[in-house]
Amino acid sequence: MAVVSLRQNNPGGNGDWLTGLPDRGGCIARLASLLSDPHGRDRGVAVLWLDIDRFRQINHSFGYVVGDSILVELVRRLERVKPARASLARVGADEFVMLVPQAAPDEAERLGHKLVGAVHQVLSIGTTRMRPSASVGIALAQPDEDGHEVLERAERAMTEAKREGGGRSLLSVDATLPARNGKYLAREELAVEETLHRALEMGGLYLDYQPIVRITDGAPLAAEALMRCRVDGVVMPPGRFIPVAEKTGLISHLGDWCLISAAEFLVRMHARGLDLKVAVNVSRVQLLNPAFAKSLHGVLAYTGIEPGQMELEITESLFMDGTDTVRRNLRAAMSAGFPLALDDFGTGYSSLACLKDLPAGKIKLDRAFVIDLARDRRAFGVARAVVQLAGDLGVAVVAEGVETEEQLQLLGEAGVTAVQGFHLARPMSESDLLDWLP
Ligand code: C2E
Ligand code: MG
Ligand code: MG
Repeated sequence: MAVVSLRQNNPGGNGDWLTGLPDRGGCIARLASLLSDPHGRDRGVAVLWLDIDRFRQINHSFGYVVGDSILVELVRRLERVKPARASLARVGADEFVMLVPQAAPDEAERLGHKLVGAVHQVLSIGTTRMRPSASVGIALAQPDEDGHEVLERAERAMTEAKREGGGRSLLSVDATLPARNGKYLAREELAVEETLHRALEMGGLYLDYQPIVRITDGAPLAAEALMRCRVDGVVMPPGRFIPVAEKTGLISHLGDWCLISAAEFLVRMHARGLDLKVAVNVSRVQLLNPAFAKSLHGVLAYTGIEPGQMELEITESLFMDGTDTVRRNLRAAMSAGFPLALDDFGTGYSSLACLKDLPAGKIKLDRAFVIDLARDRRAFGVARAVVQLAGDLGVAVVAEGVETEEQLQLLGEAGVTAVQGFHLARPMSESDLLDWLP
């Protein structure tokens, strides 16, 4: 790859010396002009903020000259995907903003995916081949927002995309409006909250159960309770309503309801002579509530279940959380006898080192990890190492999101003992589960 500047493409342009693109100032001016156009805003202005993942590392490995030429090549790729009416600016060393007038939300999201895809094409530097990746945050200008606010939202969404592992684009839902309980929610979230309240009033909340099975013979070991919300025949996925319930505090009620319902499910299973455990997801907001321990004791008193039969699934950040209440709640759960499992392992900044101090008896390898297994031999090596280390520490490993026979085979080879995923069984109602069980 030759070291060239795109500057010649934009001679005399008032912007960045390397790429010839407008700089941050140019971007802000252009956005202000789009937003002040009396019709422009109504038709929708989308802001896409793109940041190259780990660019600092690229600079360190190849030097700044090569780093610069990589940036130039990436800008070419972005220009190729850019709709004619859109404009591109370089707002930081490895950060770019695309402004798209008259953009519908779904078009903006598609464009976000295209940008991520364009950056991810193979790039050759001498004899080295690499696949750069980028994180994109998208914000759609709201009627009452100024340019800085929209840009800020797009940047925050980009940071969130990066936090989720990078190589993805994320639509911001942060423009806020007053909701119930004096909280502020995005327009989209407000609609979700309304639906959630209607579900609560009309009995639209229920649990599905997804089996977790032994890898060697498919014997059911446990079932994970997954919350569902149905209103007017439409089921809303938990990925949409749980974050809203967390923001509004509603999650404490939903969480209590989930614990009790799952415990009652256990009682019914045991009455039929079925020795199945149940796993329940617990959110950060529940653990931040000092009353959480009381809820757990309430469940035991009310249903009479053995706490060892109900596993609490908690994400990694919570195990690392230094907040007093969180720690106290986790300790209370453990001393009451509830087993803990580390959920979504491999998505956050999981480190093998954290396993050493983990009070959990189980980790759940995330689906993203399982997907990589089949196409990346090194991911397989990591999985095997995780299983080995977990084994040495007396921690069991469950793999989530197993969708193919190939993944199942590889997980077996890596030493995973239990699996969960569509390939084995989808989440299902309690009565379907009863039919499904041997
Ligand atoms: P999770 O705890 O990691 O749950 C596993 C998710 O993966 C479920 O999504 C399940 O349907 C999905 N899944 C299982 N096997 C496969 C597969 O083979 N392929 C694919 N593509 N997906 C698979 P679901 O039910 O949409 O739940 C999403 C997340 O919402 C859960 O992730 C959990 O974090 C949260 N959640 C669900 N129910 C509750 C709840 O009662 N309380 C709380 N706090 N969070 C919940
Ligand atoms: Mg879970
Ligand atoms: Mg999970």
